[in-house]
Amino acid sequence: MHVVVIGAGVIGVTTAYYLSELGCQVTVVDRASDVARGASYANAGQLSYSFTDALAKPRFLFRIPGIVAGRDRGYRVRLTPELIPWGLRFLSQCTNRRAQQNTLAVLKAALRSETLMQELHKRVPFEFSHRAAGKLVLLHSGADVREARANAALKMQLGCETDVLSRQAAIEIEPALASMDENFTAAVYSQRDSVADSRLFTVGLKKMLEKSGRVAFRLSETVKRLHKEGNRLQSIELAQGRLSADAVVVCNGAWSGQLLKSVGINPHVYPVKGYSVTLPARDAAPQASVTVLNKKIVFSRMNGDLRIAGFADFKGLGSERDSERIDTLLAVARDAAPLAADYESSERTTWGGFRPMTPNGQPLVGPSRIEGLYLNTGHGMLGWTLACASGHDIAHSIVSSPRKE
Ligand SMILES: Cc1cc2nc3c(=O)[nH]c(=O)nc-3n(C[C@H](O)[C@H](O)[C@H](O)COP(=O)(O)OP(=O)(O)OC[C@H]3O[C@@H](n4cnc5c(N)ncnc54)[C@H](O)[C@@H]3O)c2cc1C
Repeated sequence: MHVVVIGAGVIGVTTAYYLSELGCQVTVVDRASDVARGASYANAGQLSYSFTDALAKPRFLFRIPGIVAGRDRGYRVRLTPELIPWGLRFLSQCTNRRAQQNTLAVLKAALRSETLMQELHKRVPFEFSHRAAGKLVLLHSGADVREARANAALKMQLGCETDVLSRQAAIEIEPALASMDENFTAAVYSQRDSVADSRLFTVGLKKMLEKSGRVAFRLSETVKRLHKEGNRLQSIELAQGRLSADAVVVCNGAWSGQLLKSVGINPHVYPVKGYSVTLPARDAAPQASVTVLNKKIVFSRMNGDLRIAGFADFKGLGSERDSERIDTLLAVARDAAPLAADYESSERTTWGGFRPMTPNGQPLVGPSRIEGLYLNTGHGMLGWTLACASGHDIAHSIVSSPRKE
């Protein structure tokens, strides 16, 4: 069976891995000159197996006026015709019941991803800076703590243990917190969560797949549109002609809505931009990954550096004024953790990428309504965490689907 995978981010390349394990011939197409050039390039690196809390929840509604008015530095919004229908769907998810359902659905996939990642790591060992770092999420108010306790109890339904710790207990686990963000009152601790570099993982897996001879990479090639005949996917259109296959999987993340439009599908995947800065770490940098929830930023030690990542801009696919957002990210990080990194370093690298977000935070993994066309997209804030479960599931779904000759 020949399968074309569109998109060579962590989702596309992991999908190719599981398809090749099932005996498929795979062609991965990406418009970039190498793999992991989109959101998978320099994200926060958290394998956030336990912290899958939905963004859409009742308390988020109270933040919206400040976000829309531009007072919340973690968010920027431009009200466009594309954002409005997505936003209305997002608002419909902001109930307690939906938030719980979405948190648990993603948690279920994340826990499977953890096991699959361990298996993959054993089967094809290569270096991608994987570290059992643990994760701390800092909480600042009584309402944060109550919500965290409710979520910890919810996650126990799936056997996932997280602890809500006092400030002092959190500092005992991560002494670097003593010199960070003065105001936190408590923290959620998840020991099983880890940190790794999704770009190194994707690049390493690509090398391994190329060697296997079952996966070909066609890089620097843009898929212009999809073509169907009746209700069956017929081919994909590249600059140099068309390519046909038994099945095609759309794994092009934040751009999947644009591409799927050509066959009349709207996946409701919105590009939410985030940023990162990677700096030389100082001794006071935390070993665990640390999320400062109210500032929408994350600190992760990676490859000996400190990566600071975060923010969520709902402004479509443009890249204007990135430097201003990077400056704000640095200022917020420096306030929160002044001693953690060499903020003046000339070695700093900066980046912006688009999270492919669905309104309910759950990815779209499965067959589309067009025969032969599959989706593995919409992983939002957790694509690195969910890559193995999603790649595994879509590969099995494709191989087990009945085929017309
Ligand atoms: C600031 C930030 C921090 C994050 N932190 C974390 C984290 O700590 N943990 C976590 O789990 N997740 C995190 N994420 C989310 C995670 O990075 C994404 O969910 C994940 O990378 C999505 O992977 P993907 O393969 O779907 O998309 P991408 O990596 O964006 O890949 C899509 C690919 O499709 C290609 N493409 C697009 N259109 C076409 C076309 N028409 N033809 C050919 N190729 C095309 C692009 O070139 C790109 O290579 C973060 C994201 C951001 C922005």
